Amino acid sequence: MKIITLDGTLGEGGGQILRSALTLSMVTGQAFRLERIRARRQKPGLRRQHLTAVEAAAAISSAHVEGAAPGSRDLLFAPGPVRGGDHRFAIGTAGSCTLVLQTILPALWTASRASTVIVSGGTHNPGAPPADFLIRAWLPVVRSMGIELEVDLLRHGFFPAGGGELRARVVPGRPKAIELIERGACRARRLRAIVAGIPEHVAQRELAQFARRIEGFAGEVCVLPPEEGPGNILLAEVEHERASEVFTGFGARGLPAEKVADRVAAGVRAYLHSPAAVAEHLADQIVLPMALAGGGRFTTVEPSSHLLTNLAVIRSFLEIDTCVEAGHGRWTVHVGRPQG
Ligand code: ATP
Repeated sequence: MKIITLDGTLGEGGGQILRSALTLSMVTGQAFRLERIRARRQKPGLRRQHLTAVEAAAAISSAHVEGAAPGSRDLLFAPGPVRGGDHRFAIGTAGSCTLVLQTILPALWTASRASTVIVSGGTHNPGAPPADFLIRAWLPVVRSMGIELEVDLLRHGFFPAGGGELRARVVPGRPKAIELIERGACRARRLRAIVAGIPEHVAQRELAQFARRIEGFAGEVCVLPPEEGPGNILLAEVEHERASEVFTGFGARGLPAEKVADRVAAGVRAYLHSPAAVAEHLADQIVLPMALAGGGRFTTVEPSSHLLTNLAVIRSFLEIDTCVEAGHGRWTVHVGRPQG
């Protein structure tokens, strides 16, 4: 059996290399070995979220795994056939549920029956897609590829307490190629400030400050039961005809609410002023489904190292060409079958 060897120091050198390799391995049936896992991170090796992604992938594909232990820097993963059905995975810390789900969902599209997956852990973590981003930005793109998929946020889980829960219902299907070149006309602009176990005035101040920076957003405060916290998050959603984006600010001790709002507003403004359909984070998260669809094309902002690294991991598993071209104030990412 041929084993693909990957180097965890590649590009961004973080957890995404592992998660994308797991997904691609399950979908293609090719085993891989990943060396120097998360080599560019302060605490390298497998942490709880990564380990849960490995365990979840192994459970749905009856994989043979070596090196799945906390802190491990070397992993061998050899998948069997992907099995649909009911699955439940607990991260056990505030590690990101969305990242674990993104790892296994594309594999479950290839199963012979539908699945329901529940993952518990963090649902709103800095440095990972918040559940709202998964549901309102990533999911519409995947659905536009013809995939039947629903994700529900059952309970919020903030860092560091965790305790959140996400449920996904997946119907097997083959994604089809899409193009996302222009975002189209604006349909809605929503702003939501969420607090759990944090005074409501924090959320009110975030909304007020954001409104001073950008007009036209319908603002809403959402007060969760204190036991779902402590946590505070500001979410700005910009829905266009063909693309939706969610920009997130995380409240933190010692960080004024106004600063949280300013950061989110800066992200939103940069996106609205750019001619790109897709912003930074969504770009690195849609290339894998696009590659599984055999192709696709979209416009985005300046490519992040997450995006470029993910494209390299994808090329290790699939016979696919990728190309990133700059022009007219935006970048176009092409994912496609090799020519000739
Ligand atoms: P580590 O960097 O510790 O290895 P990790 O395993 O959490 O961490 P990364 O490899 O850094 O993962 O990948 C993080 C993912 O989260 C990327 O896909 C990135 O686009 C996404 N992400 C980060 N912040 C946001 C955000 N605010 N909104 C949407 N997605 C985000």
